[in-house]
Amino acid sequence: MLDLDGTLVDSVGPLCKWAQRLCAEYGLPAGTAEWVIEQRDSYATWQTFVGAAAEYVGRPEKSAEWRDHLVRNYPHEFTLAPDTAERLTSLRAAGWKLAIVTNGSIGMQTAKIDQVGLHDYVDAICISEAEGVRKPDRAIFERAAGRLGVELGSHGWMVGDTLRADVEGGISAGVRTIWLSSDAQEPSGAAASSVTGGGLGEGLEPRPEHVCGSIVAALDHILTSA
Ligand SMILES: [Mg+2]
Repeated sequence: MLDLDGTLVDSVGPLCKWAQRLCAEYGLPAGTAEWVIEQRDSYATWQTFVGAAAEYVGRPEKSAEWRDHLVRNYPHEFTLAPDTAERLTSLRAAGWKLAIVTNGSIGMQTAKIDQVGLHDYVDAICISEAEGVRKPDRAIFERAAGRLGVELGSHGWMVGDTLRADVEGGISAGVRTIWLSSDAQEPSGAAASSVTGGGLGEGLEPRPEHVCGSIVAALDHILTSA
């Protein structure tokens, strides 16, 4: 089971590109795009986020228009890295069943998945708004497993970049977990840091089984795991 944003695909770069485009089109002051990136996790919905951005630049009347601009343009900035696509193909060839398990709205998450063609690389997709339940609730992982025709258990994995949603959620679902962290060291593309062996994952709560610096390293770790 694989998280989408910040895991299978980068979502910060696309948000930055969208913000720069908005700034160029509306002549917004320097620093607006930086504010957007810094504040990206501070709001519960795109509506409140874009509303706050419009307030920040003193154009609150543009809130609805800029939200539409974001919905229309932001998903189109997403890309799927070729080496990620290659690993997903290898995993399925090795017999793994893959599901995307993502928190977010149906419209936005579907638009991103469509943009990068991830339908072709996974066996199931669970979007929290469609399922009526969000990570870390075990129920969304049960839905994913059900759609894959598998049981939850320690033969399975959850990979994601958010400790609470992905790692705590994966642990509650009884699967092994990999936390993606940009702080993880990857000498010559080495696979994963073992948390039980100490090091990077030491002291983390919840505690992932492994910490990887990239999705490619995480998928390689699963490919080579027993
Ligand atoms: Mg994420």
